[in-house]
Amino acid sequence: MLIAGLGDSGVLTAIRLARSADVVGISAQPALVSGQELGMRLARPEEWARDYLVPFDRYRALDGVRTVQATLTGVDLAARVVHARRPDGTDIAEPYDSLVISTGVRNGFWRRAAMQSPAEVRAEITAAHERLGSARSIMVIGGGAAAVSAAANLATRWPDKRVALYFPHDRPLREHHPRTWEHLQRRLIRLGVGLHPNHRAVVPEGFACDTITAGEVNWSSGQQATQADAVLWAIGRVEPNTEWLPHQLLDENGFVVVTPELRVPGYRGVFAIGDVAATDPLRSSARNRADGLLAHNILAEPAGRPLRSYRAPRRRWGSVIGVQSDGVEVFAPGGRPFRIPAWPVRKVLMPWIVRRGIYRGVRDNQPLG
Ligand SMILES: Cc1cc2nc3c(=O)[nH]c(=O)nc-3n(C[C@H](O)[C@H](O)[C@H](O)COP(=O)(O)OP(=O)(O)OC[C@H]3O[C@@H](n4cnc5c(N)ncnc54)[C@H](O)[C@@H]3O)c2cc1C
Repeated sequence: MLIAGLGDSGVLTAIRLARSADVVGISAQPALVSGQELGMRLARPEEWARDYLVPFDRYRALDGVRTVQATLTGVDLAARVVHARRPDGTDIAEPYDSLVISTGVRNGFWRRAAMQSPAEVRAEITAAHERLGSARSIMVIGGGAAAVSAAANLATRWPDKRVALYFPHDRPLREHHPRTWEHLQRRLIRLGVGLHPNHRAVVPEGFACDTITAGEVNWSSGQQATQADAVLWAIGRVEPNTEWLPHQLLDENGFVVVTPELRVPGYRGVFAIGDVAATDPLRSSARNRADGLLAHNILAEPAGRPLRSYRAPRRRWGSVIGVQSDGVEVFAPGGRPFRIPAWPVRKVLMPWIVRRGIYRGVRDNQPLG
């Protein structure tokens, strides 16, 4: 079984298959560099790295999985071979019986698909934290969970800075239930975050929104230009990492077409999961932990057993701002928050449910510095 892309979904799928099959994982980075919790990553990178920047050899369940650091360059679907390039420039060809496409998306500076060494990943994370730490005023632009999470966590970490959130509609988090924002808005106000609805930023020509900028931002929505020492662009410009795939596998936006069973139609043994898979309008199979269903289907298909179907909730749900000093709030699809206090998060949720239960054992991770 070949897992193409070892991010949040790829790692979990590999963990689930490792006991039943020979698994090879190919990924540009030699570690899980998770797409989760942008705010915590920027504000408290050490703490974030512990669970979200994890070298593959830290996962006990991946001991039997061969992980290859390489950039995927192509796939021959007839010959069942994936092509990739190693960091030293050599080309490799990996045959497969089953292929999982889990290459995710690129988004801002915090989700990249470029080949990086562990030191480069760590340096980039530390640099973003220091850049924001040295600013007196921070402008966060965007209306999704990444923007809200960044604004809340930066304001918590640095109460003396001026942190403001500019979003294009009357409220952010429009893919969540309205109650989610009603609740979080109170928290952001308490934290002193300036809230600026109906601001649509002009993206400078040629700017890919992949660096923290400084200075003036113009608004196409008519307001006067605004200044800040640091400007964080979290405007949801996601790009699927599918350049290596043939066009016939993709929809008009470049995401991988899948059936409810997460199969790529027309290609037996080829599956897709996570942010790259066009499962539903929110492409929510990572968040909704479809890795278990996928592992089941991969093993069931050749054995002729019935496959399971993925059913997506209509709205986004989960944590938005991540773990805080008072615990973590998880929002249900109906927008109601469920709070787990700090002590059970530290002593039960993370060590037992996440590291032991979900990831089946994680060895101590190395510090960021
Ligand atoms: C357990 C869990 C909990 C979550 N909780 C929340 C939550 O509470 N709230 C919320 O909003 N979201 C949550 N999410 C969702 C999450 O934010 C994203 O949806 C998730 O990170 C997407 O995972 P992915 O595997 O699709 O992509 P990624 O994690 O981005 O993985 C893609 C991988 O493929 C590699 N890659 C890409 N292109 C290439 C290439 N050409 N060659 C080689 N490698 C390549 C990348 O380097 C990366 O390692 C959760 C997800 C999980 C799994």
